[in-house]
Amino acid sequence: MAVRKICVFPGDGIGKEVMREALAVLKELEGLSDRCRFETEEELVGGAAIDEHKVPLTDRGLSLARSSDAILLGAVGGPKWDDLPFEVRPERGLLALRRELDMYANLRPAKVFAPLIDASPLRREIVEGIDLMVIRELTGGLYFGKPRGIQMIDGVETGINTEVYTRPEIERVARVGFDMARKKGGRLTSVDKSNVLESSVLWRRVVTGIGAKEYPDVPLSHILVDNCAMQLVRNPRQFDVMVMSNLFGDILTDEASMITGSIGMLPSASLGGKVAMYEPIHGTAPDIEGKGIANPLAMILSAGMMLKYSFDMLREAAWIEGAVEQVLADGYRTADIWREGGGTKVGTVEMGERVREAVRKISQKG
Ligand code: NAD
Repeated sequence: MAVRKICVFPGDGIGKEVMREALAVLKELEGLSDRCRFETEEELVGGAAIDEHKVPLTDRGLSLARSSDAILLGAVGGPKWDDLPFEVRPERGLLALRRELDMYANLRPAKVFAPLIDASPLRREIVEGIDLMVIRELTGGLYFGKPRGIQMIDGVETGINTEVYTRPEIERVARVGFDMARKKGGRLTSVDKSNVLESSVLWRRVVTGIGAKEYPDVPLSHILVDNCAMQLVRNPRQFDVMVMSNLFGDILTDEASMITGSIGMLPSASLGGKVAMYEPIHGTAPDIEGKGIANPLAMILSAGMMLKYSFDMLREAAWIEGAVEQVLADGYRTADIWREGGGTKVGTVEMGERVREAVRKISQKG
């Protein structure tokens, strides 16, 4: 079987702690499935790279990422680097990776694990069975459009950003949405603000056209972003796969992720270019760094997404997801998802061990 080359960026803070557990799960898989052969190489990114090399992403790091089959990233940043100028902050390393590798689609699954249903801020009957996928356009729109800046116009200080979307940019992310919906046997909802914004009028027109021409079998609907924000908490089960612009996705992916309860549970994938990147949605959690209590499940599930989307190892990806579900059903909880009287509190390392043990058991069942 081909060896898959994985570029590993543990990053800063708890990024390094949760990455160790994800890599240990991948190592475990190598002993359980003859399709799994991984070669991992680590590089510094973010604050760790600034400390060592004065830049958040080195040329070596970028070229390693480029030449790999997939990238795993922990998280970057922390108070130590907060006072640096914007251009050399740890987050720039992450943005540079996304831009250089043209990762234009960010996928965030929001799945409610049955044993954690009471961790959701919404009522059980609203969140039960939720398994939705939010796709955010990641390299265009308001965050990159020009003109931008703060300038004096007619003697008044004015802040400017511009929402720009071209037809090809919309087409490619729409196709990711349609493909995903087709794979899930589900439907696609496209989110926009076409009653006010021209960029959204084009967005809706292009998504509709692609749907009619290339995906007539995938049911498509459109929703205005303000209504969508409301519907996501009123009745999230009506959604399946959703696709939206960079700005709307930034906001709605956070909303969708909270439906499931904890930030320590949610993985993500950034796709588009030749190489895809997988990372938890949480940050470096400076408040719990070094305490050994970070929840490693989002990072482990991110490794599971890598198996599914980059390596087409659907069976092994399902083992990981099944193992996470199993350890939660067995009552193991890191501090962020633990409630008084509700299960056995474990640290990062023990949670990782429990997942590996569950993966072993599930793999034996086939
Ligand atoms: P955060 O996600 O790091 O933490 C928010 C809260 O959630 C904290 O209380 C933290 O303890 C908790 N938390 C997060 N992940 C957890 C986990 N796996 N297990 C248990 N608890 C967890 O967000 P923040 O505090 O706003 O940011 C801290 C730093 O991380 C900042 O420097 C920020 O820029 C950076 N950040 C990086 C990324 C990234 O690299 N993708 C994303 C978000 C934030």
